[in-house]
Amino acid sequence: MNTLETLKSTDLDVSAIRRDFPGLHQSVHGKPLVYLDNAATTQKPTAVIEALDRFYRTDCSNVHRGVHELSERATKAFEDARVVVKHFINASREREIVFVRGTTEAINLVASSYARSRMKAGDEILISALEHHSNIVPWQLLSEQIGTRLVVAPISDSGELVLEEFERLLGPKTALVSMAHVSNALGTVMPVREIVRLAHTRGVPVLIDGAQAAPHLAVDVRELDCDFYAFSGHKVFGPTGIGVLWGRADLLERMPPYQGGGDMIRSVTFEKTTYNDLPYKFEAGTPHIAGAIGLGAALDYVSQLGIDRVTAYERELLAYGTELLRAIPGLRLIGTASEKSAVLSFVLDGIHPHDAGTVLDRSGIAVRTGHHCAQPVMARFDIPATTRASLAFYNTKEEIDALASGIRRVQELFR
Ligand code: PLP
Repeated sequence: MNTLETLKSTDLDVSAIRRDFPGLHQSVHGKPLVYLDNAATTQKPTAVIEALDRFYRTDCSNVHRGVHELSERATKAFEDARVVVKHFINASREREIVFVRGTTEAINLVASSYARSRMKAGDEILISALEHHSNIVPWQLLSEQIGTRLVVAPISDSGELVLEEFERLLGPKTALVSMAHVSNALGTVMPVREIVRLAHTRGVPVLIDGAQAAPHLAVDVRELDCDFYAFSGHKVFGPTGIGVLWGRADLLERMPPYQGGGDMIRSVTFEKTTYNDLPYKFEAGTPHIAGAIGLGAALDYVSQLGIDRVTAYERELLAYGTELLRAIPGLRLIGTASEKSAVLSFVLDGIHPHDAGTVLDRSGIAVRTGHHCAQPVMARFDIPATTRASLAFYNTKEEIDALASGIRRVQELFR
């Protein structure tokens, strides 16, 4: 029996956790807020809000440049946050942790720096059919620039990667595999360990988009054995505008800078510039200092709860929600993979998701409707959009009950 199976939902004190999130305690349209839009962004615990507040109130200064007290404090807090990130994803070195704006920027960094400098026309980037636009469009831009090709591994009707097809598409021209760890639109947990193994046996490096994994699953980049891992702070209870690209030091070392400017240089003359060491080579300009510090506070918070406890609790919530929603006539769940993270994406017979979302909002229930920045996923299931409830560790079974009642009200209204 693994650790997850021995954990119970009662191992997490959800009432106490909810008290840590001021944003959860408000009324919307006169009803208590039921926040089920966590895949889009998460609410922030007081620890994160206070870390941001502290930085701007008392430590506000630029990093790496000053000898004065405030700058030293800001630099220390910023670099301490890097150490927190390192532990959170079990990286071996701080210099492998690059602060970026989010997953989108991390993938663009790899496309612009790693891929553009190494790939040539005809080289293939292999993704899956369930990717977020952030893991599609940067590769299309690259194709336009240097003539690489985007190859897409299919997904099944339940929203799982067809592994044999993936393996078949891994060919002599594959130069990079870039895949989501967890799908934002369907909740599918991808077999990333197997994906990496198959790619590496052919000498192909792997980038994992961990935007939807970091908030829900233990991420261990050494165990995954991937080459790049990207995630966003705001989806893991931290601030917006900050995220992480982790890369193997030997790869990052050989990559050209992504942007030029202050902090990424060692020396500049008009004739020649030499670049700074990792990770600063990839952190041009004043970084989002407060954001990084807030992200450190968020990851500390999640670590204190225990990510395995979070996963176990969310599994129970998902199982509960799946059963409840499946019992509603006229509702079809989109994304029914056997390994799923806490996402309930669905369509209602004869009702447009935007209408459903609007009615749910009037009951204080925040869900997302639309294509979830994954239009090819919608095309795969031949639907324009879904309504998506995405859960976090502060959600409760009562909130899922409220969602189910809300859906029934929507159906009555549009009958
Ligand atoms: N990848 C996945 C799977 C996502 O769900 C998202 C955001 O929803 C992104 C990438 C992009 O993240 P961000 O907008 O924070 O850069």
